[in-house]
Amino acid sequence: GYSDWDIVVIGAGAAGMMCAHVAGYRGRRVLLVEHAKRAGKKILMSGGGRCNFTNLDAAPRHYFGANPRFCISAMKRYSPYDFLELVERHGIEHVEKAPGQLFCADSAKPIVEMLLTECEWAGVETWLSTTVERIEPLGQGFELLTSRGRVRCSSLVIATGGLSIPTLGASGFGYQVARQFGLEVLPTRPALVPFTLTSQWKSRFEPLAGIATPVIARCNGASYREPLLVTHRGLSGPAMLQASSHWLPGDALEIDWLDGIDAKASLFRARIDTPRRSLGGWLSDRLPKRLALALAQWACEAVGVSAETTLADLSNARLEALTAQLCRFSIKPAGTEGWRTAEVTMGGVDTQAFSSKDCAVRDVPGLYFIGEVLDVTGQLGGYNFQWAWASGVACGQSA
Ligand code: FAD
Repeated sequence: GYSDWDIVVIGAGAAGMMCAHVAGYRGRRVLLVEHAKRAGKKILMSGGGRCNFTNLDAAPRHYFGANPRFCISAMKRYSPYDFLELVERHGIEHVEKAPGQLFCADSAKPIVEMLLTECEWAGVETWLSTTVERIEPLGQGFELLTSRGRVRCSSLVIATGGLSIPTLGASGFGYQVARQFGLEVLPTRPALVPFTLTSQWKSRFEPLAGIATPVIARCNGASYREPLLVTHRGLSGPAMLQASSHWLPGDALEIDWLDGIDAKASLFRARIDTPRRSLGGWLSDRLPKRLALALAQWACEAVGVSAETTLADLSNARLEALTAQLCRFSIKPAGTEGWRTAEVTMGGVDTQAFSSKDCAVRDVPGLYFIGEVLDVTGQLGGYNFQWAWASGVACGQSA
């Protein structure tokens, strides 16, 4: 015996719950299968517990992948304003922390409750704590062997997410299914993840843990103007998370600690106006004091002058060299914190074999992949959820 469904969605995360209820409202009999004990665990953890659920500015330029245009179709059909409308319909209070960046006012819980409620209203059946052991293609549709018995469906949606944070239920399951059906899986790596430091830099930065300051971070041609946060483990904060999406082992990062001000002009001016100050004193007006003194110390060391040297005693060449140390500070991270803390997975199932309209595999009728399991990765700022919602809706409207 087996139970029979129109659609089985594997993974009750952001994309899966979205897809399931949209398909349910179309009258489809939908089964949502989740191996964890509860749905939407990652949503609960997201955005520091307050879920940065969308970004009103979401556009293809905020996404990476082998085909950055793949996300356009789904995102056009389901915009951040559509999701916001759903959130408001459920009376969920939200705040715009940075321009366009929407968070829940208190906790992420109402977002999960909203999705579960929609699933319930749409008649979706949800099986938690359920694993899928095997998937077999039938002449038409699929048969799944699950820990709750055999299941048949005409459409199968893989919404199992990426590899980040294994303790929240992440698994390589989606990639296995992709390979089973002959789809290409592009190399994966952790992204939106803090950097770790070599012992030399670690001991230098460790005393500064807890300090945050706006910087411009550059890596492999990308540049982000965001805060940097020093932690006991290394360098974090939005600037570093964003840069990590462009970083490969061995690459250097470039940090402008002065956040884009014309430091050279400003320092030359200061040499005239305040000739008896040191570089550290000058920097202390612009950065948290402990950070200013440390950076001045390192810059002076690199340039070969004492940190006590007054501005008046610094030659033009030295001032320029010091400026470069502060505005083009180059550092080679030891690595990243990896899957344990990464917010997203770069890479994944190659979108080339898919229709961008509904995320269907072109050559396997009835098979769909949505959300982060695909090779679509957003920047920090609510873009990853917007892709999960939009791809879920695109598929739910079609499957
Ligand atoms: P997920 O939400 O990860 O859902 C996948 C589901 O599939 C999970 O429930 C999982 O348990 C289940 N699953 C996995 N394998 C199996 C299996 N074999 N069988 C059955 N079920 C399975 N993005 C933002 O836009 N804004 C944020 O504020 C934000 N903050 C984040 C904070 C953290 C700490 C993390 C880790 C990520 C954050 N993200 C954020 C990224 C965002 O959470 C993801 O991009 C998004 O959840 C992806 O949605 P998804 O549905 O594809 O995958």
